Amino acid sequence: TYVVTDNCIRCKYTDCVEVCPVDCFYEGENMLVIHPDECIDCGVCEPECPAEAIKPDTEPEMETWVEFNRKFSEAW
Ligand code: SF4
Repeated sequence: TYVVTDNCIRCKYTDCVEVCPVDCFYEGENMLVIHPDECIDCGVCEPECPAEAIKPDTEPEMETWVEFNRKFSEAW
């Protein structure tokens, strides 16, 4: 899965949302998150993010962000 990290906070670009083929972004007041079970790992959103906030969960220390994305995608 891909995850949205802290660079997204107050970014306000939604280019990533527009390219996602499965619509798995969820929008909160200050940032976006990706639902980790809905993301199909296609990677098309990553280069669209001007803030470089979207990262694959294969990067180190992403576990906390995966849980954060899960929690808020279910809450929003
Ligand atoms: Fe959507 Fe693909 Fe990005 Fe996952 S990797 S959030 S499926 S655009």
